[in-house]
Amino acid sequence: MPSVAQSHPPSGPSAPLDNPISSTNASSPTPFHVAIIGGGITGINLALGLEHRGVLYTIYERSPGFREIGAGIGFSPNAEEAMKLLNPEVYHAYKRTANPNGEDKFQWINGLNDELLYSLPVGKDGFLGCRRSEILEEWGKLVPPEKIKFNKTVETVLEPGDEGYNPDEDAKGKILLKFTDGTVDTADIVIGCDGIRSKLRNHVQSHLYPSSSSGPGRAVAKAGYTHKFCYRALVPMSRAVEAVGQYRCSTRFMYNGPGAHIITYPIGNNSVLNMLAVISDPNEWPDEKRHVLPGNKEDIRQAFKGWHPTAEKLAELFPEQNEGGDGPIVKWGIFDTYDFPLPQYYAGRVAVAGDAAHATGPHLGAGGGLGIEDALVLAELLGKVPELQGSNLQAREVDTEMILERVLYVYNDFRYARTQKVVAWTRDAVDLFQWKDERVAKDGKKFGKLVKKKFHHVWFDLDLQEMMNWNMPKGMLEMAVLEVALAPTVKGAREFLGIGSGSDGSDEDAEW
Ligand SMILES: Cc1cc2nc3c(=O)[nH]c(=O)nc-3n(C[C@H](O)[C@H](O)[C@H](O)COP(=O)(O)OP(=O)(O)OC[C@H]3O[C@@H](n4cnc5c(N)ncnc54)[C@H](O)[C@@H]3O)c2cc1C
Repeated sequence: MPSVAQSHPPSGPSAPLDNPISSTNASSPTPFHVAIIGGGITGINLALGLEHRGVLYTIYERSPGFREIGAGIGFSPNAEEAMKLLNPEVYHAYKRTANPNGEDKFQWINGLNDELLYSLPVGKDGFLGCRRSEILEEWGKLVPPEKIKFNKTVETVLEPGDEGYNPDEDAKGKILLKFTDGTVDTADIVIGCDGIRSKLRNHVQSHLYPSSSSGPGRAVAKAGYTHKFCYRALVPMSRAVEAVGQYRCSTRFMYNGPGAHIITYPIGNNSVLNMLAVISDPNEWPDEKRHVLPGNKEDIRQAFKGWHPTAEKLAELFPEQNEGGDGPIVKWGIFDTYDFPLPQYYAGRVAVAGDAAHATGPHLGAGGGLGIEDALVLAELLGKVPELQGSNLQAREVDTEMILERVLYVYNDFRYARTQKVVAWTRDAVDLFQWKDERVAKDGKKFGKLVKKKFHHVWFDLDLQEMMNWNMPKGMLEMAVLEVALAPTVKGAREFLGIGSGSDGSDEDAEW
């Protein structure tokens, strides 16, 4: 099993001279407050991770309640592992809502001839599907009501030093959250879990590049159209079975072919077949501000026309009307951050997580799972802060604000490479599923080798258990804080030796 290879401890002194983080002369920890912006999968999971570790937090969610569409979602083995470590209650809630697999396999069918291309074992009860609205409701019940503020849309976040930063006397040094209803709250650290069109992503970007965030030569981080759109449907199981038979409705299948694919799996205790049709699109998305637009069932009919009757019947199962029955079925543009990524996931004491940080297409079923992994890493790091506060660091002028900033530095260090890779692998995967290279796509052996590699990267490339056993986050955090704690000593020594005080990665640094 690979180790935590995607990350590395931040550079810093390897051994302290007089152990500045020992707990001798320890002062008691100062409570700090985490603001979580957005109560989707990432935000709720972060909240439940902090709850489990006794860290103070509030979720600010713009909707009147925890809201998700009824469509299905599948959680991959890495996401399950993260749930267990985050908070066992998170995992149990997921298991309560998840649909059993007919067979513990993910199977790919050549959509043109209906033959099996490849079958990937998913592990015992692995990659189960569930209804989004149900799982979110179950998780939502675990968050104490006083820790959620609904109908709160964050408009701006202001950190000390920002223009317009004007806290009350007792809130000096805190981060200000300004809401669209005119109210203001404060926090010591802010995690933006506000989804694919994140406001907090803009905040991070503008604080990384204050003068040039939208200037020439610097692309503004955002989610761009992937030239794929999709249609979703929840089909009563009896209708689905009538169309394609019991077996094909009992577990996870994907039907592949040129320029399109359909994925199906059962949810709602086998009462419903969840369906997702993904279609390639040479055009631009007409409205970047709206990722969901009125569609037309004809798109689906055309995309699967001439395929094997099984695929054509599946296409026909999609409804003509939207859920409310008062308009056409809607189509969802698939956007990701591949072309316009953030260069890092934090600035100061504000970070982004989940889709806000690294939106990815749905093709590896990974986006939600990545958000849960982010939540685990953040919760683990924030859970270690009281230990560092209780050490003698404060005597060295390393205050809570600095520790919190270093938490985000380590979070970014842990998460950036892996999450960016998953965004890229997801693009590769959809090319494979939609036969960009027909010779590979139609050859079960070649196809299977590539598919297995991609999914296994997502499922196993991050050994979360090992990370926890090694006490990795605490170790990395201590290293990062040490860098700050020792900075004055290093500076003094440099001055004494007359070798300058910069730490710009020059030869001078190497010599030191
Ligand atoms: C078709 C499709 C299928 C998918 N299938 C899978 C799958 O099978 N498995 C998987 O793991 N992933 C899947 N994904 C990806 C997954 O859905 C996302 O990665 C996940 O939902 C992101 O969760 P999030 O909490 O980061 O963001 P969101 O779910 O978007 O939540 C953001 C929350 O923030 C709130 N918010 C936004 N702005 C503000 C503001 N200014 N102030 C306050 N609140 C705010 C919103 O109301 C929302 O509740 C799929 C995606 C798609 C499109």
